[in-house]
Amino acid sequence: MDAESRGEEPTSVPISALEHYEYCPRQAALIHVEGFFESNVETVRGDIAHHAVDVVGRTVDRRGQRAWHALPVFSDTHGIHGICDVVEMGPTGPVPVEHKSGQYRPGGPADLQVGAQALCLEEMFHTRVDVAVVFAGRNRKRSDVVIDDRLRARVDGAITGMRALIDTLHVPGPVLDARCRRCSLRPGCLPEGVTTAAEANLFVPRPEGGWDD
Ligand code: SF4
Repeated sequence: MDAESRGEEPTSVPISALEHYEYCPRQAALIHVEGFFESNVETVRGDIAHHAVDVVGRTVDRRGQRAWHALPVFSDTHGIHGICDVVEMGPTGPVPVEHKSGQYRPGGPADLQVGAQALCLEEMFHTRVDVAVVFAGRNRKRSDVVIDDRLRARVDGAITGMRALIDTLHVPGPVLDARCRRCSLRPGCLPEGVTTAAEANLFVPRPEGGWDD
């Protein structure tokens, strides 16, 4: 039985987990349920890109744009929390700006992240957020992301799936496909060495001497 069914507040899901969940539920569970993490060149690039915007505080940029850096955000309605790299206060209200070290891929994981951040800002500022921005470090380009119903539903789907993993402490089996090639968790995940059957039977008591199969 999950927390909501017991009449408790639903588990708040870290926004950073949604991207992992959508990429591979096992990756998300290894990081956010088991606390396992490995760096690779992509994660280090990401850390460096975030370093410039991770200093908490309020600023006014060259365009006279007011902005918060490293702003903690949450939504009780959606049960999520996280940190926005930058939140610009434009004439229409808050606009989350996510910094990525590589290129921006429309419809990719960055959309999921800014979508979740937009939901938080809507609740915190009692407003509607229709647009977010992704800043791609590779070409130093800003791309608008429309926070439409489709993206909102995608975010909600990822939240529900990720919360189920956290509440049940479930670590799904490996996907063992092209995603594993670029995954920093591969050395610890061992996708080729784990079978769903073995995982499912790991804690089932067996008679003495019955662990050879
Ligand atoms: S190695 Fe493959 S199965 Fe394992 S966490 Fe990464 S993507 Fe998922």
